[in-house]
Amino acid sequence: SIYLDHQATTPMDPAVMEAMQTSYVEYFANPASPHAAGVRASREVERARSAVARFLGGARSEIYFTSGATEANNIAIKGVAGRYPGGHIVTTATEHKSVLDTCAYLHEAGYSVTVLPVDAEGRINAEQVAGTLRDDTVLVSVMLANNEIGTIQPIAEIGRVTRQAGVPLHCDATQGVGSLAVDVTELGVDLLTFSGHKIYGPKGIGALYISNWLTDMAPLTPLMHGGGQERGMRAGTLNTAAIIGLGTAVTLVEDRREEEAHRLERLRSAFLVELATSSRVPFRLNSGIGPGFLPHALNLSLGGVDAQELLLRLGNLALSTGSACNSSAQEPSHVLQAIGLLPEHIRGSIRLSFGRFTEESDAIDAARYLAAAVLPGMAMDQGEVS
Ligand code: PMP
Repeated sequence: SIYLDHQATTPMDPAVMEAMQTSYVEYFANPASPHAAGVRASREVERARSAVARFLGGARSEIYFTSGATEANNIAIKGVAGRYPGGHIVTTATEHKSVLDTCAYLHEAGYSVTVLPVDAEGRINAEQVAGTLRDDTVLVSVMLANNEIGTIQPIAEIGRVTRQAGVPLHCDATQGVGSLAVDVTELGVDLLTFSGHKIYGPKGIGALYISNWLTDMAPLTPLMHGGGQERGMRAGTLNTAAIIGLGTAVTLVEDRREEEAHRLERLRSAFLVELATSSRVPFRLNSGIGPGFLPHALNLSLGGVDAQELLLRLGNLALSTGSACNSSAQEPSHVLQAIGLLPEHIRGSIRLSFGRFTEESDAIDAARYLAAAVLPGMAMDQGEVS
């Protein structure tokens, strides 16, 4: 089958797997233990922390390991908010649920929350942020790139606004760090989060960057209390193997990012050309291509098609619909609603994304299968694909 759902998760890179396998044997000791085996494990954890710090342009002391982006987003937002009860938080309509639901929870708890609307491409601008800042604004949270439509937000411009106002800026960079060079200083962010499994690393591990400026000014309220690991920000014995896997994954991304982005952009074009020529069914792009959008992602609506039903007929293609991004929820996508898509276009929307191990022939075959599934009369033998 052909895997085209890299925004949901990516397969692990073999080099990551190898590093993790070694770590289970060599570095199984608790990195907090003072004996030699513990010190060896701790050294590897710190090596991975350095790799993540380098990856983001921060210092090693500014990196905290978490169980993933969801937890990191929760720590970032609740952690800052916890210092300022009842404060004002600004975010956007197309954030991941781990940001939006956290903000909604805080709203219930008495905080005031502004959710900025996005334009038809899914973007906000720095002036919108400037216009909503208040004396009691305690945090602005804007994602780097969207997980459904690939829109890149102008974080550096927003960062200049928040810096000037002295308001901390959090950026959920989960979907962006695989293809965009990220530097926390250039972006002007104080908190940044991402997950390992979106960049060919393991699941269940993520990283949170918190600037020393912010921790010096107002230490965040942790979610977990316990053994004081991660400088008190995230108690619990470290997941050494996953941390080592994450360190390897970010190093691989750094080495290949640019070349990989160009290659994936070419695959996406090849897919679109093939779809346009082999399908007599009209489709519309819900995501943009070119500057301002992720290079490997695509969201499109097929005319008159129910995407859920289409997926059932596409047994050998792994992609997702615009209606379900979170677990098994069948609600229409809040992102596609936020960009003003009509209900019938949302119903017919599919999301697909190319990745490190996608071949050009996969992209072409996928377009042919899709076209054939949309027009059952043109059905091909789906068994051909390996
Ligand atoms: N933020 C964004 C933008 C995401 O795409 C995702 C994963 N879909 C997350 C956060 C959550 O990541 P995880 O499930 O690894 O916690």
